[in-house]
Amino acid sequence: MGSTIKEVFLGNAESGKEGMIPSNVFKAMVRTDILPLIFFSLLIGAALSMLGDFGKPVIAVMSGLNEAVMKIVHWIMYVAPLGIFGLVAGRIGEAKGFAGFWPELVAVGKYSATVVLGLGVHGIIVLPVLLLVLGRRNPFNYFKGMATALLNAFSTASSSATLPLTMEGVENQNGVSRRTSSFVLPLGATINMDGTALYEAVAVMFIAQVYAISMDPAQQIVVVLTATLAAIGAAGIPEAGLVTMVIVLRAVDLPIEGITLILSIDWLLDRFRTTVNVWGDSIGAGVIETYESRDSADTPATA
Ligand code: ASP
Repeated sequence: MGSTIKEVFLGNAESGKEGMIPSNVFKAMVRTDILPLIFFSLLIGAALSMLGDFGKPVIAVMSGLNEAVMKIVHWIMYVAPLGIFGLVAGRIGEAKGFAGFWPELVAVGKYSATVVLGLGVHGIIVLPVLLLVLGRRNPFNYFKGMATALLNAFSTASSSATLPLTMEGVENQNGVSRRTSSFVLPLGATINMDGTALYEAVAVMFIAQVYAISMDPAQQIVVVLTATLAAIGAAGIPEAGLVTMVIVLRAVDLPIEGITLILSIDWLLDRFRTTVNVWGDSIGAGVIETYESRDSADTPATA
C-alpha cells in the first residue's frame, strides 16, 4: 500500500518510483513525481543564486518560463468553473442526488471545522507563544499592528499579494527593521506556509478516511513530512496548496481524485490558511528582529 519513510527519500526500485532524492530527475519529470522535483529545484536554485553573474542568464530563462506557465494557468482558470461544476455534478450523480450527497456534505463540514480548529490553535496559541517567548513581544499589540495585512490575506487568499501590507505592518506598526523584514518576509511569503502545511495534512487524512484507507503511524509521519515540503513548494497565490497536495497524496498512494472531495470548500479554507501563513511570516520577522538586535548589541562597536 503506502510508502515507507525510506521510500519517500530514496524511492522504490520495484515500482520505479523516484524518492525525494532522485536518481534520475528526468524520470521524475516524466512520471510527475513532484517531491524529487521540488528537492532538485531547491538544490539548483541554491546553486544558481550562489553563482552570481554566471547564474543570472539561467535565472532569467527560468523566470521567463515561470511567467509563461502562469499565463497558461490563467487561461485554464477561465474554464475552471465549468470543470469544477462537472466534477461536483459527477459526484452528486454518483451519490444518486442530493439526498445521497448529504452525508458527504456533513463529512466536508466536519473536515472544514477540523482545519479551522487546527489553524485556530496554531494561530491563536502556538504562534503568539513563540512571539512572546522567543521574540519578547506582546502578541496583542503585534496582532493589532498586523490587522490590515491579515484582513487583506483573508480577502485575497494570497500571501504574495499581501506582502507589501505585511511589510508595512511589520515595519511601521511593529518596529521591525527594514533589514530584517526585507529578508524574512519575501522568503516567508514563498516558503513559510505553516497554515498550508497543516491544512494539507488534515485534508489528506480526510481523503484517506473517505476512501476507507487506514493509515499506519509511519504513513502518518510521511504525510507530515511531505505536507511540510509540499507547503514549501506552494506559491503564495490562491489555492496553490490544493495543487501541491498531489505530492502528499502520491507519497502515500492515495487517489488523487480525492481532491475533488474538498474542492468545493477550498475557496473558504484557503482564506483561513493564508491568514495563518501571513501571521506566521510576520511573527518570524518579529522573532528574528529580536535575535538580530540582541546579536548586534553583543557585538562590540568597531571604530
Ligand atoms: N493561498 C495560500 C497563500 O497564498 C497558499 C495555499 O493555497 O495554501 O499563502
